[in-house]
Amino acid sequence: MTGLVLKDIRKSFGAVDVIHGIDLDIKQGEFIVFVGPSGCGKSTLLRMIAGLEEITGGDLLIDGERVNDVPPSQRGIAMVFQSYALYPHMTVYENMAFGMRIARESRQEIDRRVRAAAETLQLTKYLDRLPKALSGGQRQRVAIGRAICRNPKVFLFDEPLSNLDAALRVATRIEIARLAERMADTTMIYVTHDQVEAMTLADRIVVLSAGHIEQVGAPLELYEHPDNLFVARFLGSPA
Ligand code: ADP
Ligand code: MG
Repeated sequence: MTGLVLKDIRKSFGAVDVIHGIDLDIKQGEFIVFVGPSGCGKSTLLRMIAGLEEITGGDLLIDGERVNDVPPSQRGIAMVFQSYALYPHMTVYENMAFGMRIARESRQEIDRRVRAAAETLQLTKYLDRLPKALSGGQRQRVAIGRAICRNPKVFLFDEPLSNLDAALRVATRIEIARLAERMADTTMIYVTHDQVEAMTLADRIVVLSAGHIEQVGAPLELYEHPDNLFVARFLGSPA
């Protein structure tokens, strides 16, 4: 069985419960978008999937294997955050190659993957530049490229566009859609509070509120048949 399964996933910080039992089956290659208001638990959920946050209840399966206790580096997951921490003294090429050098990949393999990622993200002519000579959108693409180079089975995005201005946000969103098409076997989980991003990128949208799922479905399905007012308001469905 491939893909990702969340079985009654829970999270508490001390005595405070923030995720109240999430059940979700995600197929390999699916593009899933988590939407919901600030503080509803989107980042916490993503961080638990990545292994950056302890899962305090339930099971997380990747390709049928329980990974609750598997360290982040062994889950086959790459994550792109809102703030792209690139190494300022390294070129675009070196930033993308860095993780593979640590993993002791061959020079040839590193070169192949960096160039393929740069090609996908239209960064080929910027490979020799330092991050300070790039726009915000280009830097975020380098961060995405770095994640691609790790050959992840699962790609996680936490509000990757929210630090960009409106025009760059649209351009980078289109870039991410292209990426998802090219990496059709890679499962993508994308967090946003932006309805347009959710509607345009998702195979299925998961609407979250206060640590639980309100509704799951294809964008149009949710838009046309929201289960409740919360979902309708969130997706801007007609009244
Ligand atoms: P979102 O990403 O949807 O805005 P978060 O996952 O960041 O929401 O947060 C969900 C809830 O968990 C919030 O109430 C937040 O205050 C709380 N929370 C997140 N991280 C911690 C932490 N390290 N310690 C205590 N509470 C936290
Ligand atoms: Mg968040």
